[in-house]
Amino acid sequence: MNTANSVRLFAKARASIPGGVNSPVRACRAVGCDPLFVQKAAGCLITDVDGNTFIDMVSSWGPLILGHAHPEVVAAIRRTAALGTSFGAPSPLEVELAELLCSALPSLDMVRFVNSGTEATMSAIRLARAHTGRNIVVKFDGCYHGHADSFLVRAGSGLITLGIPGSPGVPDDIVKNTVSIPYNDIPTFKATLGERGGEIACVIVEPVAGNMGVVLPEPGFLETLRTETAARGIVLIFDEVITGFRLAYGGAQTRFGIEPDLTTLGKIIGGGLPVAAYGGKQALMNKVAPEGPVYQAGTLSGNPLAMAAGITMLKLLHEPGFYEELEAKANRLADGLAERAQAAGVPLTLNRIGSMMTCFFSRGPVRDYNSAMTANTDMYARHYRSMLADGIWLGPSQFEAFFLSAAHEERHLQKILDAAERSFRNLMHVIK
Ligand SMILES: *Cc1c(COP(=O)(O)O)cnc(C)c1O
Repeated sequence: MNTANSVRLFAKARASIPGGVNSPVRACRAVGCDPLFVQKAAGCLITDVDGNTFIDMVSSWGPLILGHAHPEVVAAIRRTAALGTSFGAPSPLEVELAELLCSALPSLDMVRFVNSGTEATMSAIRLARAHTGRNIVVKFDGCYHGHADSFLVRAGSGLITLGIPGSPGVPDDIVKNTVSIPYNDIPTFKATLGERGGEIACVIVEPVAGNMGVVLPEPGFLETLRTETAARGIVLIFDEVITGFRLAYGGAQTRFGIEPDLTTLGKIIGGGLPVAAYGGKQALMNKVAPEGPVYQAGTLSGNPLAMAAGITMLKLLHEPGFYEELEAKANRLADGLAERAQAAGVPLTLNRIGSMMTCFFSRGPVRDYNSAMTANTDMYARHYRSMLADGIWLGPSQFEAFFLSAAHEERHLQKILDAAERSFRNLMHVIK
């Protein structure tokens, strides 16, 4: 594969951008590659600056559930841009997207738009702390909630990939207010609330974890979070930045039938532009400024281009049968991958729900951070490189999810399966 233009750009980028990238995992270090620079993308295909085209399984880390450059989304952005790109004043599209979100997710009466998932989660915990008058945030090992100080404790995603426990620059005074406990561990959760319940402002969770690879909540886990927090006046926050409009139109909370007190959204709701939101019941959300005292603001929040992209996206997702069809496709892909791994003798644990999945190179089961860490990252790196050489663009880390989009057709799935079959066979060959 000719990658001369990417090599040249990466060298230049490293001089003006730390590590040459604007988000660490993009540097592809965990898989022993240099990043390919992207020229363009359409549907499920992504093309680099040297003209190599790949089937994209990253989908911009989740947002592009309709594929790249969906014609209707692009048209909406164009139409809106012609009318001005930012006003610093309220505009009609914000109301429309807010209403769409509130009617889609049962727990939302009101939402506030922000620009990234990081802002959404950090604002949600500020609100929870203000509401309860308590400081402690409980999170789960391997869950990622953006890069705000409070969350950089056993935080999944890029931190796992880079093998760092947290981050320098985060004061101990802040970290001491974060308690991180194992995912799916009901006894530890109950014990934590039993010991420190009176100090805990909120419990924040990815209802399906997507940032230590995909890890599903076991039966009773989310239910226990709901009943135990409700009993102690603790705010339960579902971080649905990935799962919102991914697992169902109404997110994981609809799929599992559990209503959190606050929800954070991002990724899909912006249709590929930078938008996120936090929301919940009116009594809580009315504490946000200017209605209430909890300050939170944003110069570009509710940006019209992003609102237009989000509205168009959500309307397309609301078509009957959209999620059923996508899930059936994801299921066929997952079954096909599992079969091929088994035939080749590769130990593979495939965690999937809806259109998100991770192939862990591990005998499994993978049900929390520690079991995710048993995966063979060296095998993943080899698999990644083999798939890339075969035209398949995977996430450059064992601990990320694949996201299928509506733009992946049967013929693309077949190519992925053929490439995986070759990769799995070669892996066993290398290991023996
Ligand atoms: C991506 C992600 C975030 C952070 O969103 P950014 O827009 O990258 O700041 C927060 N929570 C979850 C669950 C995520 O997957």
